[in-house]
Amino acid sequence: MTPTKTKPRVTKSAMKRCYFFGNGAAEGRAEMKTLLGGKGANLAEMTNLRLPVPPGFTITAETCIAFYEQGKQWPTGLEDEVRQALQHLEQVTGKRFGDAQNPLLVSVRSGAAFSMPGMMDTILNLGLNDATVEGLARKTRNPRFAYDSYRRFLQMFGDVVLGIKHKQFEDLLHAAKYRIHAQHDTELMVDDLKVLVTDYHQLMREETERPFAQEPWEQLRLAIDAVFNSWNNKRAVTYRDLHRLPHTLGTAVNIQAMVFGNMGERSATGVAFTRNPSTGERAFYGEYLINAQGEDVVAGIRTPNPIDQLQHQMPQMYQQLLSIAGRLEQHYRDMQDLEFTVEEDTLYFLQTRAGKRTAQAAVNIAVDMVAEGLIDQAEAVLRVQPEQLNQLLHPMIDPTAHVEALAKGLPASPGAAVGRVVFTTHQAITMAEDGQQVILVRDETSPEDIGGMAVAQGILTARGGMTSHAAVVARGMGKCCVAGCGALMIREEEHQFLIGETVVHEGDVITLNGSTGEVILGELRLVEPTLTPQFRQLLVWADQVRRLGVRANADTPFDAKVARDFGAEGIGLCRTEHMFFGADRLPVVREMILATDAATRHKALAKLLPMQREDFIGIFKVMAGLPVTIRLLDPPLHEFLPTIPEDIDKTAKQLGRPVQEVQAMVASLKEFNPMLGHRGCRLGITFPEIYEMQVRAIFEAACQVTKEGQTIVPEVMVPLVGYVSELKVIRERTIRVAEETMAASHVKLTYLIGTMIELPRAAVVADEIARAADFFSFGTNDLTQMTFGFSRDDIGKFLPTYLKEGLLPADPFATLDVDGVGQLIRMGVQKGRATSSKLKIGICGEHGGDPASVEFCHRVGLDYVSCSPFRVPIARLAAAQAALKGKKEK
Ligand code: ADP
Ligand code: MG
Ligand code: MG
Repeated sequence: MTPTKTKPRVTKSAMKRCYFFGNGAAEGRAEMKTLLGGKGANLAEMTNLRLPVPPGFTITAETCIAFYEQGKQWPTGLEDEVRQALQHLEQVTGKRFGDAQNPLLVSVRSGAAFSMPGMMDTILNLGLNDATVEGLARKTRNPRFAYDSYRRFLQMFGDVVLGIKHKQFEDLLHAAKYRIHAQHDTELMVDDLKVLVTDYHQLMREETERPFAQEPWEQLRLAIDAVFNSWNNKRAVTYRDLHRLPHTLGTAVNIQAMVFGNMGERSATGVAFTRNPSTGERAFYGEYLINAQGEDVVAGIRTPNPIDQLQHQMPQMYQQLLSIAGRLEQHYRDMQDLEFTVEEDTLYFLQTRAGKRTAQAAVNIAVDMVAEGLIDQAEAVLRVQPEQLNQLLHPMIDPTAHVEALAKGLPASPGAAVGRVVFTTHQAITMAEDGQQVILVRDETSPEDIGGMAVAQGILTARGGMTSHAAVVARGMGKCCVAGCGALMIREEEHQFLIGETVVHEGDVITLNGSTGEVILGELRLVEPTLTPQFRQLLVWADQVRRLGVRANADTPFDAKVARDFGAEGIGLCRTEHMFFGADRLPVVREMILATDAATRHKALAKLLPMQREDFIGIFKVMAGLPVTIRLLDPPLHEFLPTIPEDIDKTAKQLGRPVQEVQAMVASLKEFNPMLGHRGCRLGITFPEIYEMQVRAIFEAACQVTKEGQTIVPEVMVPLVGYVSELKVIRERTIRVAEETMAASHVKLTYLIGTMIELPRAAVVADEIARAADFFSFGTNDLTQMTFGFSRDDIGKFLPTYLKEGLLPADPFATLDVDGVGQLIRMGVQKGRATSSKLKIGICGEHGGDPASVEFCHRVGLDYVSCSPFRVPIARLAAAQAALKGKKEK
């Protein structure tokens, strides 16, 4: 490339659509991601940093939106602007588009505001045709290279623009290799490639019933259209759905002068990370291929070399690469994922972006960068996505287990997984819908497989490296992945794979270790993870900035212990009904429910009392002085009763009562809408002795633990209150029993009595209810159910359709419906605090561990969130980020 010096154009139009970069100056900047896409903005930024970037220009993402708005037509003025920019590119490169002597070739690449690796399309070597390929051959004196580029271009153009299946081209390529007994495409000589190009032309003519577009401008126009269209291709849409990304932004288009990694042995192409994206280790990391182009490295065509080897093969290039990579990391103050190409001993950069990384790497890099002085603690806290921490809270293989690996592949994404072998995305989805755990096993994955990868426990591939599609996508999903397991021979037709002598059939169970790359036949026990020192450090920083408290929902001493270890500051919800389901408890509970007179019921309750007391003692001890909110019995009674005839018989026998009588009792307790029926405080009001027993158990336990030297402030929580009168009645009874119990034990405790806010009415009259409550806890599962009128147990029939058709932005049971349910919460908080300014308010639905919902809870001024024990670290980080974002806004 022989650049001539020119200044970048500055067009002063209201709707500038093309932004030029080249020759050490660019019209764009890194901050312009929304307009130019991440790729375009960073190409501009790298150009401004005077790094070796082939020149080009970016068509804005706004243009893509306009394209769709106008029924897939180019907006007016676009053509002129593209032609001008192209002319400018010709000047800068000293080449001419379509010139048979000295042709300018370009890549046409998509690039949205957020990175969607491999989801949309790229075309390389555009501008080649039967005439320019000859010019390129002459000019480079390398006809093999010219025809290799041409066949690659036809293949990409055919696939992306003309919609001809990639596989059809691949079959012709395989046939060409087969003819000369070649293993790799690099062994094809110029004459083989010429034959292949003819084959490709013929394929395209047959498939489209017209000759291939020889005219470069026509090629460019179609390619730009294809990029616009690829914004809405199926895999891009699925990717955005999976990552909850908006569908409205559009993609920018980058048109960039080609550089060639396929010019021979002094040329190469590769990808690199400034730190290890799996572990976060501060070591240059990457893969490359000599004499290759574009996606060869990630496509698993040949197995790429580790980047260290470049040090020996191209020492100068390696040094330069290392030094520029270091500069880029310093500049962006984050780990970078780079694409580079060496064209005959000259290094070029084609992309830089914040590298995708595992949660482990994200945490380690954030903490390390604080130590290195690159970022501050607040920035570190903001760098890790709370949801991603899930990966660190994911299981690994029991370290004491005896592991005999069948084979070993690359440790592409950490964690461990157990599941049944499936070979197709379709099968993965079918079996997963059936409630089975599956492991997707493929030669290599392609973007079409993301649906299957999403439902699988883990992914195993035979080919591809650490940056293969499977590896990158699995890491993004936080899924265990073993890639490039060479010993694996997949026979999809026979529904089996071979590893040496061993045959593994579809449906057989295997275990993967994504941290070591091991593949193990059969099921190994997985163990839950613990927090690393770096992870603890990050959470300490998070704790220093968050305002929201974080508690856990825990029903047993074991769960309480897990919650404490993960940093829970109390229990926000202890569900007492879970204590009623044990094998020793259930018969007594049934005796109590089926009692026909008060005496029998009291007898049964007297048996339950010591059991409940022991449960509470266990929990209080683990929580050692931290607050514990105990919810009185909530579910409808029939949930505890036998349903199948044998069980009814057995229960009747146990109770010494006639079967018919028990049957009749069970039938009489059946309800049409149990969730709207005889449950919650309604039970407590109609069967006061049940709540009395529970309150007695709580206070006896609390008194005993106090005598043993612990402080404890029990919080008694009444479910499903809608009228303040309900709460008042139960409050009085609770106080009476609590005082009696304390008097009997000669212990004086402070305690709180509060209520769940889980009926819309309760939120609306929260000022009333606050008169009888010391605290509120939003039960957002029921509140969502009651607000939408969606039965949680029946949404499977319609919610998927709602989500698919965009009637709802997200599952309201997973992420809080801010506009509806959120407004009720806001109202509940305001009204509650208007009555009692010190009212303590929390949330204990599933939403308490969902980062977006946590942010909302912070904004409306809740005191704490409570979530399942394994989500406690996620909530701590999310609460910190909410506080930091709140501060920034102010
Ligand atoms: P993705 O976003 O999927 O990575 P890219 O548009 O970045 O897609 O490009 C696909 C491949 O083509 C990458 O390996 C990239 O480095 C290579 N590539 C893109 N443009 C050029 C170019 N102008 N010259 C050489 N290689 C290119
Ligand atoms: Mg790519
Ligand atoms: Mg790229």
